[in-house]
Amino acid sequence: MAELRKDPITRMWVVITTDHPKGPSDYLNFKPPYQVQETKDPCPFCPGNEGMTPPETFSIKQERGWSVRVIPNKFPFFRIEGEFDRRPDGMYDMMEAIGAHEIVIEAPEHHQSLASMDPSQIRKVLQAYQSRLIDLEKDRRFEQFLILKNYPGLFNRHPHSHIMAMPVIPRRIDEEIWGILDYYQRKERCIFCDILKEEISARKRVILETVHFLVFSPFASRYPFETWIVPKAHRSDFHRLQEEEIEDLSVVIQSLFLKFHGLLSNPPYGLTFHTSPVQERFHRPEYHWHIETRLRIGLREGFEWGTGFFVNPTPPEDAAAYLREVGG
Ligand SMILES: [Zn+2]
Ligand SMILES: [Zn+2]
Ligand SMILES: [Zn+2]
Repeated sequence: MAELRKDPITRMWVVITTDHPKGPSDYLNFKPPYQVQETKDPCPFCPGNEGMTPPETFSIKQERGWSVRVIPNKFPFFRIEGEFDRRPDGMYDMMEAIGAHEIVIEAPEHHQSLASMDPSQIRKVLQAYQSRLIDLEKDRRFEQFLILKNYPGLFNRHPHSHIMAMPVIPRRIDEEIWGILDYYQRKERCIFCDILKEEISARKRVILETVHFLVFSPFASRYPFETWIVPKAHRSDFHRLQEEEIEDLSVVIQSLFLKFHGLLSNPPYGLTFHTSPVQERFHRPEYHWHIETRLRIGLREGFEWGTGFFVNPTPPEDAAAYLREVGG
């Protein structure tokens, strides 16, 4: 048997199989479908190799060197230079992928994860996100921020995450906004605030609760061990977080990933921060920012998961050309 469950926010249906539910042991030996092998090449993110990266946009210094460092991505999806030029191509819309794509190097040590990092180090990473978002928000071309992390990194094992500033609102967040606004119209309340109340009273899916955050498995989880971290107070913007909330969040993140680690022995994972669009025209005070996490155990991979975008490394024109030329 299986259950069809509807995500109350995006109204997406999810099939939950109930007959032979898989437990942690079913996932223990899983290896992500693609993963870089450690090479002997010098790591550009390790201390001493700063010259291998573009100049930093932000860093937190410590006695010797830095403890967190932010740099522009050498191979970005989005580029900061260029004209914001939305133009039609026949019936299709396109624009230059204007934006920013930065890498947050989360620690000087090459082998670290959110489970092994000290909360005080995670707090510095959160401060780096916050500070970069506040700065990037000044660029009025950017409508949406996304923070994304894959562990282990797809191209480098050194602990790092991505900050993306985009000129458009990704579909996943757009769907959430539609769901939130629709619910507001009918009930004059925030759906995330209502979900929090429901989960706190039902206690069936709560994993962790602190002064400022609730950590739970969403009712219509799309992935095994999907987990959300949601601020208990209604806040639309991650980067407006207060100092004590950041401190609380760093402890929450470390304990959640320690749990994953304990249950599934160092599983690969991803997490993404969903926050309101920025700029007056797009900002949504109704939005309730949150973090979504999941374990990368065999399903759709990182970027498409965080955004609803699928990454297609083959332009459709090329694909069509290949198809025309191949015998059939
Ligand atoms: Zn390294
Ligand atoms: Zn809310
Ligand atoms: Zn979300």
